[in-house]
Amino acid sequence: MRCTQWRQVLLDLAQEALVRSAAEYVDRAVQCQLSSHDDGEHYGLLNDAGEYGTALWLRWLGRTEVESVVLTDCPVVAPGPDGDGCGLFTDHTEQHTWEDTLEEVSCAS
Ligand SMILES: [Zn+2]
Ligand SMILES: [Zn+2]
Repeated sequence: MRCTQWRQVLLDLAQEALVRSAAEYVDRAVQCQLSSHDDGEHYGLLNDAGEYGTALWLRWLGRTEVESVVLTDCPVVAPGPDGDGCGLFTDHTEQHTWEDTLEEVSCAS
């Protein structure tokens, strides 16, 4: 299950994010990309078009603490000959994005 938290990207933060990355645009609202979690910071993907191997993320905690950060891509890929790459960043909490997919597969069978 994906975390259901959304965060609006305020204009000044969006502009700061554009300056800090090679991105041409950022979304005006982002959804947390982590697996569902009860506490801790939320991470929404603003843009992954920057420098290779990095992405621009919106990190927030509660209503007031919000900032844009550039993070290195998570290097862990799913087991198997052609395992999926993880869509998150290095040292993220919660599951890798492909672990969610594996769960869905095993539930369906
Ligand atoms: Zn979250
Ligand atoms: Zn990962």
